Amino acid sequence: MSHKITLIPGDGIGAEVSQAAVRCIEACGVDIQWESVLAGQDALDQTGQLLPQNVLDSIKKNKVALKGPITTPIGKGFRSVNVAIRQALELFACVRPAKTYPGVKSRFKDIDLVIIRENSEDLYSGIEFQEGKPETQKLIAQIEQDTGKNIRPDSGISIKPISKFASERIVRFAFQYALENKRKKVTCVHKANIMKFTDGLFLQVARQVAAEFAGKIIFEEAIVDNMSMQLVQKPHNYDVLVLPNLYGDILSDLCAGLIGGLGIAPGANIGTELAVFEAVHGSAPKYKGKNKANPTAMILSGVLMLRHIKENRPADILEKAVSQVIAEGKSVTYDLKPDPLDPSAAGTSQMADAVIEKIKKMK
Ligand code: NAD
Repeated sequence: MSHKITLIPGDGIGAEVSQAAVRCIEACGVDIQWESVLAGQDALDQTGQLLPQNVLDSIKKNKVALKGPITTPIGKGFRSVNVAIRQALELFACVRPAKTYPGVKSRFKDIDLVIIRENSEDLYSGIEFQEGKPETQKLIAQIEQDTGKNIRPDSGISIKPISKFASERIVRFAFQYALENKRKKVTCVHKANIMKFTDGLFLQVARQVAAEFAGKIIFEEAIVDNMSMQLVQKPHNYDVLVLPNLYGDILSDLCAGLIGGLGIAPGANIGTELAVFEAVHGSAPKYKGKNKANPTAMILSGVLMLRHIKENRPADILEKAVSQVIAEGKSVTYDLKPDPLDPSAAGTSQMADAVIEKIKKMK
């Protein structure tokens, strides 16, 4: 079967890792017609827009996209194009598997966790009030009047909306995911002891949804700070984690650290009809154009994409090929070498070549 898929190469290391992933996916013999579109700085330079409409139109038309990372300057300039794509297309579930592959230097073996992060609201809603602006002063005055609590006048404010609707949608998604993927347990991560009306609501809804799956999937609750310690000490105790947006973002990087680093952590953003597959990592600007970044996270995002479009055999071949290259430890990038300064480390494209060689032997 032929598939038409949107490709957003991204910036920073995006172009290199996306190209490596495309080459590996194509080597598996899947019939894919890529529709390449630009977003981020390159799009801004060429079209004057960071997220041109044709990017969203292409994803809506093709239903599936593979996306490289896109830079977001901290604290100034534009808001994240990555977050904008997820919000514009209602890609409400961010799925980030954290799995150890033999040969990866990591404190733990046999980790196999999945983070399910709510993608549409929380502190990532982009509702912010800048320090010193009249609307911020107005909001502060209103809050002080309504709550009797003081806010310093030189404050900036970010709003954290958490709805029943989006909480139920993500928790249900997590339980369905657990069922379909033969997982045993879902842990709801929150800070409901402090944020009673936002995280408290998320937890309350999670308990209700969990009751529908009683007897099929175990349900647990954990406070996010304790969870961070538990994950570092006993990651094997966990299976599927469901979290609001911010905690999901932070703990997925923590879990990437548990399994050997951001270079090997894949991800998917899923909506009711559309799906965008991208690595957990960002654009790592310092490695741009150096042929140094690890392409594994993008390649494994490609594995998730192939499973999503029901190309299960090519997906299995691709995952096995990556796993073999990592296990051999020869043609791997610097971050997978015992000594990151090892001069024999492979470049991005050489690691992809090694994966392709393995694929050829399996076909
Ligand atoms: P980052 O993930 O880009 O990089 C952090 C560090 O992780 C790098 O310096 C590098 O040491 C390591 N790393 C990341 N990817 C790697 C790879 N493939 N191979 C080897 N090592 C790798 O995080 P950052 O520096 O905080 O962010 C850089 C930019 O990316 C920011 O503008 C940020 O907003 C953006 N970002 C984008 C996405 C996305 O596109 N979905 C996600 C996260 C961050």
